[in-house]
Formats: sequence, structure tokens, C-alpha cells
Amino acid sequence: MTEALVAVLRAELPGVTHQPGDDVYTAATTPDNSSFPQHPAAVVTARSTDDVARAVTVASKSGSRVIVQATGHGAAAPIGPEAVLLDTSALDSVDVSAGVARVGTGAMWPAVQAAAAPHGLLGLSGTSPTVGVGGYTFAGGVGWFVRKHGLASASLRSVEYVDGTGRIRRAVEDAPESVDREALWAFRGGAPVGIATSIELDLVDVPELWTGYLLWPVDALPAVAAAWAAATATVSDSVTSSLSLLHLPPDGPFPDDLLGTTVVHLSYASPDGGEHLGPMHDAVCAAAPPVVDTTAAGDIVSLAQIHLDPPAAVPARGTGRWLGAAGADLATSMFDAARIGQPGGLNMIELRHTDSRTVGPMGAMTTVPAPFLLHAVGIGADDGSRHRTDEVLRAVENAGRAADVGRSAPSFREGQPDSADALPPVDRDRLRAIRDALDPDRVLAFARHPVP
Ligand SMILES: Cc1cc2nc3c(=O)[nH]c(=O)nc-3n(C[C@H](O)[C@H](O)[C@H](O)COP(=O)(O)OP(=O)(O)OC[C@H]3O[C@@H](n4cnc5c(N)ncnc54)[C@H](O)[C@@H]3O)c2cc1C
Repeated sequence: MTEALVAVLRAELPGVTHQPGDDVYTAATTPDNSSFPQHPAAVVTARSTDDVARAVTVASKSGSRVIVQATGHGAAAPIGPEAVLLDTSALDSVDVSAGVARVGTGAMWPAVQAAAAPHGLLGLSGTSPTVGVGGYTFAGGVGWFVRKHGLASASLRSVEYVDGTGRIRRAVEDAPESVDREALWAFRGGAPVGIATSIELDLVDVPELWTGYLLWPVDALPAVAAAWAAATATVSDSVTSSLSLLHLPPDGPFPDDLLGTTVVHLSYASPDGGEHLGPMHDAVCAAAPPVVDTTAAGDIVSLAQIHLDPPAAVPARGTGRWLGAAGADLATSMFDAARIGQPGGLNMIELRHTDSRTVGPMGAMTTVPAPFLLHAVGIGADDGSRHRTDEVLRAVENAGRAADVGRSAPSFREGQPDSADALPPVDRDRLRAIRDALDPDRVLAFARHPVP
């Protein structure tokens, strides 16, 4: 079957169908999350929506599945020769006008921000510059302005997409067919229900961007956690912050004393000027003097650097849980359970302050579910390390149980497919019905967001 499928793909999609041994195939099957091997029958590097539609049509006729991938940050399971990998990374057009970004779903955030910034606008990007705009937005998108402007999924206006039968469609609030209105509901923070090729996103005003990160030796954790937790109760909603514990690499742009050690890391941003960061900054500095403090007027480059995300591909395995509170004692016990920097421990744990009064439009998850987000990540390179990391992740989740609101945050479950409790049961049923209408033969598969 594989040979026949590849022969048809090569005939239908000449020049964009790639097989094992070819450099494009190798690059496309080397995902940013390198936890699992990828050996699809072929890679199709789509250049247009028509390419996507043709690939889906061919795959569905041959009984194969199509798996979509832009960067592979969401790679969460092995891919075998029964599937075709649809690589969207070449669908990277970006156009900004009238406060809206029209973006190919293979584009990454820096391209959108570079186009938006000259207009005094930005998109609702997250911490990493190497994350795809589509995958990020469809999972909710918890960004640096989440407290003031809400989730990226709430900024999603429309989606051009291909359904499981190969039909090109447009999901928008006033679409003539109800299934396309339902598809927009799903794409907004629930799960993709078709292969998206371009999206429209509302941009937000950013009058005066300030960014920064501070670092302390690990023994400052109790004092800094207490000061940060207290500050989150009063700080203005222009401030989104993350308190983390992470193990620095042995080299890098950090003071020698901190290299190769576990550090306390506070990162934050304000779209409305430095005076909004001031109260939190002063509180944590009074609790313990930081060794590093980069708080200053920022730009789109600093915004993408303050979280200190790893620059290269890693076999990551993580968890994300929404929390109703994150007091100092709870924070410290979750951070202790993560065993950062210890043998078998995790690489990073963070608490994001996400409390937002913004109510999103209709969508599966367009309003922030809880005021805090727990995110913890370790290594998942093979079954053994996955097992060890999972034990520590469970210990972290147990330490936070008292504040857990009962929902996982799929974007932060690195190396794992979505969990059943990402959405309430009624929304899971609705997602399933939309998927069944748009992809009755289950031709499409989404590693990060399998419809439950
Ligand atoms: C270092 C790092 C930092 C991060 N920071 C944040 C953050 O601050 N906030 C946050 O919310 N998330 C964050 N994430 C999580 C990130 O948003 C998810 O991993 C997201 O799924 C990545 O999307 P991608 O397109 O880059 O990855 P991919 O693996 O290419 O895609 C991920 C999933 O998205 C779906 N998808 C991708 N493209 C399409 C398409 N064209 N049509 C339909 N479905 C598609 C598929 O289900 C796919 O499995 C971070 C991840 C990393 C690795």
C-alpha cells in the first residue's frame, strides 16, 4: 500500500512529495520535540491550500492518515509508514493590515511580531520564538499579555482549512454552513478539526513594551516566592509574570556563579510601560537582591527571550495544570517536588500568573480557565526516562492538588497527547460531533490534540 500511495502522491504533488533518504524528508521528520521517531510513508511540504487538499484526497482514497506538523514542538507519538506527514512550514506568509494579521499556519511568531510592531501592535505570542502560530493558537495560546488581553484563541477571527474529505472550507463566525461556525468554535482553543492553511488574528495595541527577567540563587526561593505570590494579588493587569525554578546550562550569557546551578527565575512583561512592573519588581528585590535584573524598555526580541526557553530541540515531557491559587507555601512545595537539578529530577517548573478579566468570544477555550498555570518539564527521550519523568510530574501535580481546578493545559503537556480533562465533558462531546461531521473516516490526526 505504501508504495502505491507514494506513487500517487508523487504524480499528484510533484516536487513537494519527499521520501526517506531525501534531505527535505529528513528535516521534516526531525521535530522540535525529539521524543518519538517519525517514519511516515512520505512528507508533503505544502505550498498552498490546494496542495493540502490534494494530499488529503489521495490519503483518504488509499486509507492512510494525514498528520500535520509545522515545527514539531507538539510531537507526541511515533509516526509510522501508515501515515503521510503534511509539513506546513512553507505556508509562512504574513500580512498585517487594519489591526489584523493574516498568517500562513506554518509561520512562527517572530515573523508576525515583526510585521505588527511598526503599527504599534503585537499578536498574543507566548514565550518561545520557535513556536508555530497555528499550533499555539489552536491549543489556547497563553501569552505575555494574557492578563490584559486574554488567550490567543480569543483573537482568532477565521481559519481557512481542509476537512477530512479534502474539501477547502472557511471557519468564521458568520459562515453560511453551521459546521464551519462550529469549526471556528473548535479551533478557538479546543482542537483543530481540519488542516488549517491560513488564519486571521486580531492584534493588540502595545503603547510601551517593557520586559525583563531576574535571577537568584536557589536558596532565595522561599523569600522570592512569598514576595511574588503577594504581589500577584495587587499588581495591575498589564503585568503577566512567571516564577520558575530552572537549571542553567554550564555556559551561556549568565554570571559565572550561576552557570550550571539551579536558579530562581522571574520573567515578566507589560505592554503599558515600566511603572506597571515596578511594584512586583520592588517587592521581589526587597525580598532578596537578584544577581541578574534585565527589567527595561523592551522589544519583540527581548519579549521572546526573557523566559529563557531552550534554543534547540529537546525530547521534552511535561505537564500543565490550571490552578485556582498559588500561594507561597504551595509554590514552594510544588517546586520542591520537581527536584530541579537533582538526578532524575525535572529541568524546569514554573507558575504563570494568568488571572484575566477578559471574556473571550464563542469558542472551546477563549477565556482563561484559572488565575494560575502550573507548567513543569523534564526529559522524555526513551521509555525509561519517560517513566522517571512521569513519576516526578505526578509528584508535582500532587503537591499542587489543593489548588488544581481539574483541568489540564494541553499546550504544556510536552511529548504527550492531550489529556481527557482539558475541556469539560460537554465540550468534548461537541468537539467529537464536529470532528465526525468534518472527518467521518478519521483521515486526519493531530498529535498534540487528538479529539477525545
Ligand atoms: C519552548 C516552548 C515554549 C512554549 N511556550 C508556550 C507559551 O508561552 N504559551 C503557550 O500557550 N504554549 C507554549 N508552548 C506550547 C506550544 O504552543 C505548543 O507546543 C504548540 O502545539 C506548538 O505548535 P507548533 O505548530 O509549533 O507545533 P507542531 O508540533 O507543528 O504542531 C502542534 C500541533 O498543532 C496542530 N497543528 C499544527 N499546525 C496545524 C495546522 N496547520 N492545522 C491544524 N492543526 C495544526 C497539530 O495538532 C499539531 O500536533 C511552548 C512550547 C515550547 C516547546
